[in-house]
Amino acid sequence: MLKNDSALVLFSGGQDSTTCLFWALKNFKKVRTLCFTYGQRHSKEVEVAQSIAQQAGVPFQLLDASIISHLSVNSLTSDIRMDEEQPEGSYPNTFVPGRNLLFLTFAAVIARSHGIYNIVTGVSEADYSGYPDCRDTFILSANTSINLAMDEQFKIHTPLMWLNKAEEWALADELGVFDIVRTQTLTCYNGVLADGCGHCPACKLRKQGLDSYLKIRNK
Ligand code: ZN
Repeated sequence: MLKNDSALVLFSGGQDSTTCLFWALKNFKKVRTLCFTYGQRHSKEVEVAQSIAQQAGVPFQLLDASIISHLSVNSLTSDIRMDEEQPEGSYPNTFVPGRNLLFLTFAAVIARSHGIYNIVTGVSEADYSGYPDCRDTFILSANTSINLAMDEQFKIHTPLMWLNKAEEWALADELGVFDIVRTQTLTCYNGVLADGCGHCPACKLRKQGLDSYLKIRNK
């Protein structure tokens, strides 16, 4: 058991945050979820998240963070088409500048109001995008800044930080939730549940990881 018995999980109903939710349930006595809305194109994400939280028996809190979609234009907060491939020397247009910094700050304020000092987020720097606010150095720095800002001792946990997608499937399996993660989560940018549309970047990445994990699993 990690120090302090409760945690707040940043939760979207996708593969990453669902794996994190069950990781948190294994490591903490009390767990809450916090889900942000910010002009996602699919309100289905919220329904999916709510339903998984309900099954897991944890409180689900929804926070309107739509201010983010008024700050800049990108494919997650507006109707512009997402990049199928990452542009060279740049981030894909699914990158929402400042998102994780704002989300972690909001999460810490809410966690504090519940007397919770562990925050769990599903960011990873081992795979894919290289979004700057998914890197370990950013998380450590945000953790320090948030602690200084509120004169508190929060601990931000990132159980997926060094896992590639295949290892993430292995973790879900180890936690006994492989099937829940496989069939009930929504990762697809086109809003298709479970294995998804099959051609958006999120689906391709998810499938690649799943295929390589299943090869090992079925040996
Ligand atoms: Zn897809």
